[in-house]
Amino acid sequence: MSVPSTTTLPTTLAWLRDTMPVPGGIAWLRLRNQSNMPPDVRYRERRVTVLPEPQGWIAIVGIPLEAQLGQHTVIDQDTGDRYTFEVFNKQYKTQHIRLKNTRQVNPNLADTERIREEVAKIKAALASPWRPTAVSPLPLSKPVAGRFGGAFGSRRYFNGQARKPHNGLDIVASKNTPVIAAAEGVVVNAGSYFFNGNAVFIDHGQGIVTVYCHLQDIFVSIGEAVARGQTVGTVGQTGRATGPHLHWSVSMNNTMIDPALVLQR
Ligand SMILES: [Zn+2]
Repeated sequence: MSVPSTTTLPTTLAWLRDTMPVPGGIAWLRLRNQSNMPPDVRYRERRVTVLPEPQGWIAIVGIPLEAQLGQHTVIDQDTGDRYTFEVFNKQYKTQHIRLKNTRQVNPNLADTERIREEVAKIKAALASPWRPTAVSPLPLSKPVAGRFGGAFGSRRYFNGQARKPHNGLDIVASKNTPVIAAAEGVVVNAGSYFFNGNAVFIDHGQGIVTVYCHLQDIFVSIGEAVARGQTVGTVGQTGRATGPHLHWSVSMNNTMIDPALVLQR
């Protein structure tokens, strides 16, 4: 394995110490590139987060839930350097959810058309172009005060029918609790979605996008710059939700990862 010794991580990146390269997780690599500019490092052709350290750069790679186990390759486009890391198995739990609104399990024709349009918007928001940042977006601030509910990655059944795995972390809080931006960024989408309910998408730069779902109110609009800790909305139960909570997703290199891994502790 080419993963460097964890004992040498600078204190600003010490939170990476316990991460394991698993599907839905992150891998980090020390780069040989000594450039003053953030190196253009790609995984599955997508540009990844690179954070400075005293000796150079650390690349942080989001690994998709559907990733194959075994060796994966990361390429530094600037130098041609190739790096490999190994993806290990992780067993995620199975979750059964009952919904009274059966349209949220089996959408009708009009719903399906709406969902199709929304998927295109969501994809565009998550594919926000990579841009450098003055300050590291990571680790992220907890977006709402509350207890952790449904974990990322669980295999889900709605009314007994298999659906996509849970692509975020649920934080349970009462309706109207303020929801804050997890880091500085720009709102790339804000609106009403069939499954996500009222949702806000924030691009933090470095290929990192966070998503806040099932909101009661939205206080920001597309194109607006937000500060870390700024209130962007309130907790609600809009869309496919069985109670008031924040569904929070984190995308790195256009890949949904377990938000708990990049959360400030
Ligand atoms: Zn959720």
